[in-house]
Amino acid sequence: MNGKKRLMAVFGTRPEAIKLCPLVHELRRRGWPVTVCVTAQHRQMLDQVLDAFRLRPDADLDLMRPEQDLAGLTAAALEGVSGALARFSPEMVLVQGDTVTAFAGALAAFYAHIPVGHVEAGLRTYDMERPWPEEFARRAVSLISGYHFAPTAAARNNLLAEGAAPERVFVTGNTAIDALRTTVREDYVNPILDWAGSRRLLLVTAHRRESRGAPMEGMLRAIRRALEERPDTAAVFPLHMNGLAREAAERVLADCPQVRLTGPMDPVDFHNIMARCYLAVTDSGGIQEEAPALGKPVVVMRDATERPEGVAAGTLLLAGTSEQGVYRAVSTLLDDQAAYGAMARAENPYGDGHACERIADALERI
Ligand code: UDP
Repeated sequence: MNGKKRLMAVFGTRPEAIKLCPLVHELRRRGWPVTVCVTAQHRQMLDQVLDAFRLRPDADLDLMRPEQDLAGLTAAALEGVSGALARFSPEMVLVQGDTVTAFAGALAAFYAHIPVGHVEAGLRTYDMERPWPEEFARRAVSLISGYHFAPTAAARNNLLAEGAAPERVFVTGNTAIDALRTTVREDYVNPILDWAGSRRLLLVTAHRRESRGAPMEGMLRAIRRALEERPDTAAVFPLHMNGLAREAAERVLADCPQVRLTGPMDPVDFHNIMARCYLAVTDSGGIQEEAPALGKPVVVMRDATERPEGVAAGTLLLAGTSEQGVYRAVSTLLDDQAAYGAMARAENPYGDGHACERIADALERI
């Protein structure tokens, strides 16, 4: 043995996988024995990432069920991860972010007296309803975790203010930026880029539970209006499997010739299209970190963001969720070259693509 502890990474959704696969690779490269347990909370979208990063899970709980509610998923994940812990007996568990899997994985480790390291720790809106239920999950994981890998100094400060021990909170940057170093390629081609041609391409995503229904339709109407007023623009909208935006997107956008609706893209396609788009318009968390690393401004369709560093740095424009707010923000960035240029050039506060190395360094010191 090389004296390195047995680690287990537990994850279940696309964003967790994008942010943990590069870390698993980095730790293994340094000789750490790391097992991977996936809950597969999002089956197809998770598999797209596992394939892209060539990672095979040691335990696959395959928990996704039709019409699954949060309580059922939480219970199944708690039981499933507990079983995997018993089988592989890791000495530390790594979870990422704020999903049901992260919460249940951390709780399973807590019940088994196994220390937890939390990647992307300390993000907060301090509003339990926004985003829901993620704000609860990340705070609960912080309570359980012994080691916190905060992407920014502001996230670290949140943890310190909540009583975390300073020597256990490490500022590392966000591992999402590391993932881009694997996926983005010079020679990438895609028919969607050919379809967009010389038009300015908006990359749109929306999937938050709290925007379901009327707010979602309003946001999409705003995007359509902004596009139709500017014939030199086009948009691609890969729909999330949770279906929250599907109906609204089909009603509001499907018959707009400037829009392409697609299924979820694998991260190689998504990141390469992001690298070549004009603007990202999204309610996603991860895209708020990634797009600025590629020099792309982001219109954030949310009322609150747990990524205020990006707003302060000028990489994110918080539009709210009203039709008028989204229309105004998108129009500004399409029409005001100076505003666009300032955002495109602003420095991304979420890191330099070396977060995994910093986390591995911290683990070696622990
Ligand atoms: N993403 C992807 N394919 C898509 C849409 C998003 O690979 O069709 C990636 C994106 O680059 C980011 C992550 O998925 O890394 C964001 O996931 P999502 O928006 O589902 O979750 P959030 O970040 O809001 O938790």
